[in-house]
Amino acid sequence: MVTDVTVVGGGPAGAAVAIALGRRGVRVALYEKASSPRLKPCGEGLLPHGVEALLELTGELPAAPRVRGLRFVVSGTSVEADFPSGTGLVVRRDRFDRWLLERAAATPNVDVRLGTEYRHAGERMMVAADGKRSMFHRRLPAYPSAPDRVGLSTHVAGLEGLVDRVEVFFHRDGELYLAPTGGGEALVAALFHRASFRRDGIQHLLHAIPELRARARQVEFTTPVLACAPLGLRVPRLTAPGLLLIGDAAGAPDPITGDGMALALTSAIPAADAIISGNLAAYSRLRRKMGRTADRLAALLLRLSHVEGHAAVALLHRPALVPTLLDVAVARRPLNVATVLRAVI
Ligand SMILES: Cc1cc2nc3c(=O)[nH]c(=O)nc-3n(C[C@H](O)[C@H](O)[C@H](O)COP(=O)(O)OP(=O)(O)OC[C@H]3O[C@@H](n4cnc5c(N)ncnc54)[C@H](O)[C@@H]3O)c2cc1C
Repeated sequence: MVTDVTVVGGGPAGAAVAIALGRRGVRVALYEKASSPRLKPCGEGLLPHGVEALLELTGELPAAPRVRGLRFVVSGTSVEADFPSGTGLVVRRDRFDRWLLERAAATPNVDVRLGTEYRHAGERMMVAADGKRSMFHRRLPAYPSAPDRVGLSTHVAGLEGLVDRVEVFFHRDGELYLAPTGGGEALVAALFHRASFRRDGIQHLLHAIPELRARARQVEFTTPVLACAPLGLRVPRLTAPGLLLIGDAAGAPDPITGDGMALALTSAIPAADAIISGNLAAYSRLRRKMGRTADRLAALLLRLSHVEGHAAVALLHRPALVPTLLDVAVARRPLNVATVLRAVI
């Protein structure tokens, strides 16, 4: 029986698995190298199944704006769709990561070591929750799966017309995401192909998309623009004796799925179960399956987003496909040919 675990990384994955382990009586030392949680490049949307997992882990939710679904906009045409059940949250990452780490620190048996970089590896059971550039990829290698994609994110004040949906604009030069973060502020994130990437990509898209040109006339940037590349990551092996990978360290889908944090949170309890029972393979199978669904959804959405004006518009004209894709995104349906055909025929 494992009684002591070292968790490296205090993002959503590390904090969540520490809570799941601590509550089951396992002593956890959690290392987070930042001295206080900070903003990260992120779209900040927590999908409903991630919200459910958070509630199961902590018994409460952070004070953050709720969203009931998405609004897709392509070439001036838009369609809205609600999540099949539940609501999503928009979690500004500095606040959310701090909130979750505080929950971890308040969990019995969990010792949070903020501002402490973990450097050596040698403990009996390690959990790697140290993100896409995990130090443990030296032992369990990782490969970029979306080398041509770049992400940017920031916050603005003064954006008009944003209510209770995440808005997704498909544009020739990239996808732009808007979400309310509270107090009149909005998250703005953009995903680009490297060929059309520009440092001022967010400012560019806010002006290049006609609907936004009018709504963003008065915006002021309230946080710096953060960048991340490459976006996707595949990790073929997720466990080794005495080691388990979780969160982005275990593989990241292209953020077009908006699923990264939900993946981290929903895999925390299975990870804790596997560590306690010693059956790491069970976790590995489950997490790989979750990762494959997210990767397939990302591939489908990317194909749609690449051909602005064609497939993406066709998507908007097949309204049944939008809730189907949302069902897949929130892990209620598998993504396979049968699922897609049922929606389009
Ligand atoms: C542009 C973009 C948009 C995105 N949009 C969304 C979205 O809308 N919804 C969503 O759910 N996901 C989104 N994601 C993905 C999401 O940001 C990640 O999936 C999530 O941050 C993963 O959490 P994590 O805890 O695994 O890793 P991280 O949040 O990266 O945390 C890892 C932590 O480990 C710490 N660390 C690293 N090395 C060490 C060490 N040696 N010692 C101690 N600490 C260490 C780091 O400081 C960091 O705090 C997006 C990502 C990008 C790039």
